[in-house]
Amino acid sequence: MIKTTGTIYLKRGREASVKRFHPWVFSGAIQTLEGNPEEGDWVEVKDSQKETLGFGHYQKGTITVRLLSFSKNIPDKKIYIDKIVNAFNQRVFSKVINEHTNSYRLVHGEGDGLPALIVDVYNGVAVMQAHSIGMHNDRQVIAEAIKETLFDAVHSIYYKSQNTLGIKSENEYLVGMGVVPHVITEHSNKFYVDWEDGQKTGFFLDQRENRKLLGQMTKGVSVLNTFCYTGGFSVYALNAGATLVHSVDASEKAIDLTRKNIELNGFDAQQHECFAADTFDFLKDKKNQYDLIILDPPAFAKHKEARHQAMKGYQRLNAEAMRVIKPNGIIFTFSCSQVVDKQLFYNTVVSSAIQAGREIKVLQHLGQPADHPVSIYHPEGEYLKGLMLYVL
Ligand code: SAH
Repeated sequence: MIKTTGTIYLKRGREASVKRFHPWVFSGAIQTLEGNPEEGDWVEVKDSQKETLGFGHYQKGTITVRLLSFSKNIPDKKIYIDKIVNAFNQRVFSKVINEHTNSYRLVHGEGDGLPALIVDVYNGVAVMQAHSIGMHNDRQVIAEAIKETLFDAVHSIYYKSQNTLGIKSENEYLVGMGVVPHVITEHSNKFYVDWEDGQKTGFFLDQRENRKLLGQMTKGVSVLNTFCYTGGFSVYALNAGATLVHSVDASEKAIDLTRKNIELNGFDAQQHECFAADTFDFLKDKKNQYDLIILDPPAFAKHKEARHQAMKGYQRLNAEAMRVIKPNGIIFTFSCSQVVDKQLFYNTVVSSAIQAGREIKVLQHLGQPADHPVSIYHPEGEYLKGLMLYVL
């Protein structure tokens, strides 16, 4: 049994979203707090009639409770095993894990009923990241639950929350010890992953299905992959028979990773060239050079206050790519800013098209894959959006 150190009573009428399985209790919905919970403690949440609504992790701030259970019964440690088993079964059923892919997101926070927890599995090594003190406190129990559920499929668990919590937390192996860099397979494409040194958990698994889609159209074409990081899209394009691929990233380290991944897949400078450069600068004199351009920038807006400025960035970036791409070219354009919704992104891309003054068709709307699920009651979990455009 877990130990609760407080009870939160909601204001009258504020229980509706919790009853609908929305996992967050905002400070403004709280009538009273009984007890004296510390950051990260488990608390019980009740409505104004003193009926139990669920249990979750307490944290001082706008989101005061992140609920893990919507049951009246006090949870025990098995709650993590149950959730991880569910998450794993969903990945198997939806064929994310298959003979050509050994790396996937096992836990996607709220989408898997485990708010503020990320677990990515890289060919036998799980990388776990907590975004709340509650998940941080429970890290050992969670690691045991992963080990118990995945057994031999995971030999090491690396905990990486040094920069996600606002408290001191050392990155460390909780189980076993992986050796970096480490090779993973994604739709038969090979990549080195370095979770110790790399961005986030080491690799952007969320673009897997978009990379696969891109691979289906790159035979015999010239490709520009901007914001390439580990060169994910570049590797798929080359393996699929692109005649030439250029990869651009502002970070030298990212360029180095890309170069290594290109070599790992058996390609050399004949088919591929790397540029450590700012994408905006790089695009300036590249008119009519590429059949296909990928725009996958980092989140330009991390919070609402930055949104206006971010939209200008997306607008300018897309307009530039539309201006330079060859006639009858394809653009894959993305935004991973959670505060920029699908419609806003779409409207911005329309405005770029108007500015570029070219005829453009939308071929497909793109998003995040099945191992990055979104709870239907928690639309905030949807963050990756993209468009495949055809530029005449
Ligand atoms: N497309 C990648 C993920 C992109 S992450 C993938 O599939 O894995 C964003 C990358 O953009 C980072 O590697 C960062 O170094 C790079 N970056 C940020 N600002 C940039 C800029 N102005 N020009 C080029 N690269 C930039």
